[in-house]
Amino acid sequence: MIIAENFNDLWQARGSLLEPVALVPTMGFLHGGHLSLVKAAKHRAESVVVSIFVNPTQFNQSVDLEIYPKDIDRDLVLLEKEGVDIVWMPSVKEMYPPDFQTWVEVGEISEVLEGKMRPGHFKGVSTVVCKLFTAVRPDIAFFGQKDAQQVAVIQQMVRDLNFPIEIVAVPTVREKDGLAMSSRNVNLKPAERKAATVLYKALQNAQELFESGERSAEILRTSMKEIIEGEALAKIDYLSCTDRNSLKELEQITERALISMAVFFGKTRLIDNLILEK
Ligand code: AMP
Repeated sequence: MIIAENFNDLWQARGSLLEPVALVPTMGFLHGGHLSLVKAAKHRAESVVVSIFVNPTQFNQSVDLEIYPKDIDRDLVLLEKEGVDIVWMPSVKEMYPPDFQTWVEVGEISEVLEGKMRPGHFKGVSTVVCKLFTAVRPDIAFFGQKDAQQVAVIQQMVRDLNFPIEIVAVPTVREKDGLAMSSRNVNLKPAERKAATVLYKALQNAQELFESGERSAEILRTSMKEIIEGEALAKIDYLSCTDRNSLKELEQITERALISMAVFFGKTRLIDNLILEK
């Protein structure tokens, strides 16, 4: 496994890879969700590049960036075991030199949900992913459905900028009690960790209502709200039921919908979602 920390080393290592090449972008502190992306990438491509970069430009709160967990030694052991070819772990200075001034901004689809609550977040995401794409030149890139809006924003960017890259969305990997795996879960205090199972319970309840014929988005939003508000440690940031593609808030569900949420447990903000389809 080659570890590249600057662009020259990455380009040199990239030149020796067998095609097709897959890229799995991460911010490290790897868990089962990340590893399912790596496994999916190994399955589809001859070579796999995993990037580890805690991208400062996508953090709209500096405290969130400061407490973001890191364990690079453990990450490297896990990736070696998975048979990854290159780990691309540039420094902040390598990615954003002092005179950096070019940004990629995706329009409408990045302004709702996460984009509305975390101004500037997707500008940071689309810029860094664009830089990762141009540096690694993958044929396929793997993203988690857990960050459903991120997948939609990246797909839009790939279409708009004509990147010859296939984007694959991998299903959310959950803990046994339903909590979506996330690097941020480690920051939860024990009582918050227990309370956080309410997210999946609320999503599942909305899914059951949908499966029993309910098509009012407002009723689904209200049912999720009631369940989450029943948990004293949970503080809702947003709850939504949107069109799966446009991410516009719905009144009635006619085709596929995305139910999604961001909820604080103490200082830790967690997101989760499910796709509803007939
Ligand atoms: P992160 O390191 O949190 O930026 O995540 C890197 C990639 O892993 C993103 O595409 C995430 O959507 C994906 N990911 C994170 N958590 C999970 C999970 N529980 N299941 C599947 N994919 C995930």
